[in-house]
Amino acid sequence: MKIRILIAILSLPLLFLLVLGGTRYAADCLARAQSVTPPFPSPEFQQRGIPILMYHKVNPDPRSGGLGLRVPPYKFARQMEYLAAHGFHTVSLVDVVDHFQKGKPLPSRPVVITFDDGYLDNYTYAFPILKRHRFTATIFVVAGTVGKTNVFDARVQPVNRMAGWRELREMAAYGITIGAHTLDHPRLTGLPLEEARRQIRESKAILEAGLGRPVEVFSYPYGRYNLKLARLVKESGYRAAVTTVQGLARPGDDPYTLKRVRVMGSYNMQKFITELLKYYYYPPAPVAAGGRRY
Ligand SMILES: [Zn+2]
Repeated sequence: MKIRILIAILSLPLLFLLVLGGTRYAADCLARAQSVTPPFPSPEFQQRGIPILMYHKVNPDPRSGGLGLRVPPYKFARQMEYLAAHGFHTVSLVDVVDHFQKGKPLPSRPVVITFDDGYLDNYTYAFPILKRHRFTATIFVVAGTVGKTNVFDARVQPVNRMAGWRELREMAAYGITIGAHTLDHPRLTGLPLEEARRQIRESKAILEAGLGRPVEVFSYPYGRYNLKLARLVKESGYRAAVTTVQGLARPGDDPYTLKRVRVMGSYNMQKFITELLKYYYYPPAPVAAGGRRY
């Protein structure tokens, strides 16, 4: 018995040392993480490009999908806090195009936040976080699935509810831009041009009728686009369109093939910051028209 008490007394300082060591280790890691954060771009770098962040689902439930398309809300909240704390200002895609084409002034350190597909979780989880910072964003809605489920990718993804008209109208009234993402999310490059035109035009018309406001921006499903499709989007009355090609939106870019910066659910803060800032410094390698998945 006495030996056990002795062991307990002797192990206490050992335990203390272990805890202290652990804390020191954590502090070291934090310091290291902060030191590798790239310095912020100078103003002339900011003039050269604007990040358009690309999200899909913001959802805590792993059953709603993998971390490729799903960012947990606590991570999204930290990312928005980071943007707010570091002087980023959210702007719309039309603001960006007007800035590039007509010199419309933008606030310092502009960023565009976009969500593809129009999931209900954008309203449930992302919208309250955006409101907390008075941030705006753009949601590209699959016009044929408003208030329904993700039938467009149900074979490869779990069933998710899509935002209904009530949620879309409430977000639009706050200042969220609603854009179009076709009628039923096809790969536009694989369709006859007439059907592609219908997808691009009718999704705009349905969303405008449902929202009672103009729909001026478009996102290519799976990032599949070509120059013919970009022309169709322009002729259909849109002001801008986004792809999944990685990079910043830059002056002189075709407003109908804008690049974005993907944010995945697996990213920690360091990775998020690296992705957010890396294109300011490293021009991306040219990517062939046609885009990539997502
Ligand atoms: Zn999509």
